[in-house]
Amino acid sequence: MIGTFKRITDNPLAKYLLQRTLTYCEKDEAIRLESALKIYLGKENDACYKCKLMSRLIGYIVKKGATGFGTSEKELKEAMESEYWIRGLTSVLKGIALFGVKRPFVPGAPFQIVWNITKACNMRCVHCYESAGKRGENELSSKDIINGLDRMAKSGVTSIAFSGGEPTIHPHILDFIKHTENSGMCAAMATNGYILADKGKSQKFIDAGLEFIQISLDGTGSKTHDSFRRVNGAWERAVLAVENFVDAGIFVEVATTVTEYNIDEIPEMIDFVRDLGVNWFMLYNFIPTGNGTEIVDMDLSPKDRSELLETAYVENKNGEMQILSTAPQYAPVAESMVSKDSAMIPTHFYNPEYTSPALMQLAEFIGGCGAGRFYMSIEPNGDIYPCVFFPHKEEVKLGNLMNDNFEDIWMNNNVLHQLRDKEILEGQCGECNSRHICGGCRARAYNYFDDILAPDPGCINNQKEWETLKDRISMERAYESHHENLILKMETRKHE
Ligand code: SF4
Ligand code: SF4
Repeated sequence: MIGTFKRITDNPLAKYLLQRTLTYCEKDEAIRLESALKIYLGKENDACYKCKLMSRLIGYIVKKGATGFGTSEKELKEAMESEYWIRGLTSVLKGIALFGVKRPFVPGAPFQIVWNITKACNMRCVHCYESAGKRGENELSSKDIINGLDRMAKSGVTSIAFSGGEPTIHPHILDFIKHTENSGMCAAMATNGYILADKGKSQKFIDAGLEFIQISLDGTGSKTHDSFRRVNGAWERAVLAVENFVDAGIFVEVATTVTEYNIDEIPEMIDFVRDLGVNWFMLYNFIPTGNGTEIVDMDLSPKDRSELLETAYVENKNGEMQILSTAPQYAPVAESMVSKDSAMIPTHFYNPEYTSPALMQLAEFIGGCGAGRFYMSIEPNGDIYPCVFFPHKEEVKLGNLMNDNFEDIWMNNNVLHQLRDKEILEGQCGECNSRHICGGCRARAYNYFDDILAPDPGCINNQKEWETLKDRISMERAYESHHENLILKMETRKHE
């Protein structure tokens, strides 16, 4: 199926025409690809003859793709009723025109940008990747953010997820959400939910056009959650916020960062969160960055992670709620558990079930870690990184929204090129048969080894690296406590 698709796009004439669709049409005021897609979908009649001509090629590719992926052209056209699907499909076709049909697939623009709009936060979470608290010194102005949103929309980004710090306390968050929606992108937000326990406040976000909300819960009750968040009453308010958005029919994801602190609560949490009526339960991989570096010894062992993912796979079948994980090892775990009546391709953003084994090939194109392919992140000062979990180091910084050309970064940045190549992964990840559906979490590899291509030590295949790390961490801890004792002794002597 992928082969058929590849043959179409490898045809020099088809390739040339597809690339021509990326030019801007003055008459239709859109890139030809978007215009052609709209004509094909019957949403545009009054277009120029060139765009109409292009729509035949686009229609042919889409039709072939739909049949190959086991869906009908009619079903596909129905899905395309949503603006976001059109943007997503445009990005897929643009990716094919720019990068070809390759493993892993690279779309023409990120599907999602996680935008940390402020470092200010009303909590002090022990695992915060942003070490948030106070507002940062060089945060972008609201005008810059609005301009940045325009640029994202123009380059074909499908969705913006506002995060932080805590995005709900930014004074202009509602304007950003409205602007995102008006620009044709999907507005999402990741929040601790504290402020949104108030029904009136949550309604304001819904009225502004928020389509997707992620609310964090760290445990089944306030004991675990409030001690993680270091704010009393945080759990109760987060649950109220979840209820407000579920009642309003908004797409709700509950997110939990799983560590040794709360792993035992996960089975109970699955039931609890399912009963709340949410759409997705996301098990975040712990990544030792930001405040997380202080609790690095709470990271899950490869065995614990693997068992957790097995539980998630099994529980996915019990009800409507999807259980997702940002651990790319979810895909090989799922592959090892495929049975006659259960086959699923887990990704960071959806767990499609499939009936035809040929569709498993799709997993290799989705390709595990989406850093720099499906996602990128923007910091409060406009710095761009492949994913929010990368530390803020020059070596992995891709550029700055204010000073660099966003599309140029997407096409030409060397860090992105490396993240998009599974053949250059090092150690066991490079030799592993599952590298095309997994490839390890590149942010974990970088945070632990200062190398974006290093093995992810969270995998059972990388047990050796995990043990070496554990030894290193306990030696560092022993050294730190020895050092602290020495300082304490010296201070005591000074005062004697
Ligand atoms: S060795 Fe690497 S690529 Fe293979 S399953 Fe483990 S993390 Fe994934
Ligand atoms: S680096 Fe990749 S696998 Fe890790 S959190 Fe980011 S996108 Fe996910």
